[in-house]
Amino acid sequence: MEESILCSKCSTPLGAEDVFCPNCGYPEKADQSKRDKYKYRIKIKQDVVDDAKKKLKSVKVVLYIIIASNVLFGLSYLSEEATFVDGISSLVAALIFVGCLVWVNKKPLVGILAAFALWILLQLSVVLVDPALLFQGLFVKIIFIVIFIKGISSAKDYQEYSTQLKEMNAN
Ligand SMILES: [Zn+2]
Repeated sequence: MEESILCSKCSTPLGAEDVFCPNCGYPEKADQSKRDKYKYRIKIKQDVVDDAKKKLKSVKVVLYIIIASNVLFGLSYLSEEATFVDGISSLVAALIFVGCLVWVNKKPLVGILAAFALWILLQLSVVLVDPALLFQGLFVKIIFIVIFIKGISSAKDYQEYSTQLKEMNAN
């Protein structure tokens, strides 16, 4: 009986006809040029992942700003009895955004979607109380929205391509 060759990346047995590993796609029995192409495909995916990581950093900066301003406003509201409850809710919001930040590090897409939804809700609740506040800091709000939306697409890329890379490099 012929001894079967195992994929050197993921140890899947290769059939006699298999040039590429049926499990991870590694060109086990391919010539050098095919191996180079395989490495190149990995490099392209790696570049997408690295680029997405950079863009996710902007989302984290936005979250830090939101957290910091909620803490600052929260603490100043706490000092006056009339705004004490608002102070508490600001601090609670800050805490939830910290949770989102942790989430962004682990599951970027879910984390960003949660943070974005929460932030929009907070903006809406403010505007419902006083519609004129919609225009307060409008420029910053628009920048935040753009960064959030770009972040969502980067997070998708990041998750999709890092999963593909994991499969290709499976050991
Ligand atoms: Zn394999």
